[in-house]
Amino acid sequence: METLKKKKERLTLSKAPLLIACDFDGTVTQQDTLVEILNKYGSPRWHEVQERVVTGELSIREALQMEMSSVRATEKELKELLADRIKVEPSFPPFLHSMRAQGIPIVLLTGGFDLCVEPVLVKAGLWPLPYLSNRLRRTNGTWQVEFPYPSLHCAECGHCKADPIRTWNAQGYTTIFVGNGVTDRCAAQAATLTFAKDELGQWCRKQKIPAVLFQTFSDIQKELIRREWL
Ligand SMILES: [Mg+2]
Ligand SMILES: [Zn+2]
Repeated sequence: METLKKKKERLTLSKAPLLIACDFDGTVTQQDTLVEILNKYGSPRWHEVQERVVTGELSIREALQMEMSSVRATEKELKELLADRIKVEPSFPPFLHSMRAQGIPIVLLTGGFDLCVEPVLVKAGLWPLPYLSNRLRRTNGTWQVEFPYPSLHCAECGHCKADPIRTWNAQGYTTIFVGNGVTDRCAAQAATLTFAKDELGQWCRKQKIPAVLFQTFSDIQKELIRREWL
């Protein structure tokens, strides 16, 4: 007869490897890097642009370029602002360390910009962490938004987070996505399992997209243990 230990080993071996893809702003961090930049350096009317994204009137790409075109701060000023203002969600570092100890990769998928990720993670002692993002480049004193990951499937997103998730699914991973906002909607539909909060949580509920609502990364870890995925 198969012992319990043997059965557990067999189940573990037959399970597809997990990969955790995680939004950055408002999920790994407590504040939003773009909000902090626009509050300090952007046009006072940036809220109106953001509103038009939520209602679907503007694409995320159009909005990002419109919002950043009013910002005149230098790269140094932006990095200092972010290192000062953006705090990592306290439940994230223990979650990251626990997943790493179990050999489960975590990749950040941000709808924001490359230069916003590093200063925050360096300050939190979590750098390096792999991430995919849009790019910011400063030419003649103005910021240009570049989208290095164009999507064949999606014209909406700057960087469609569903694309890498579909690739990982095809590679045989069980993908877990964690997010909170409008740039996470495509990913929430592509991942094997989605954890959602804030705007994304409300949207998933309205659109009847299956998602587990969460508040902290410790909720996520508990749910994965409950499902015997960890
Ligand atoms: Mg977010
Ligand atoms: Zn998309």
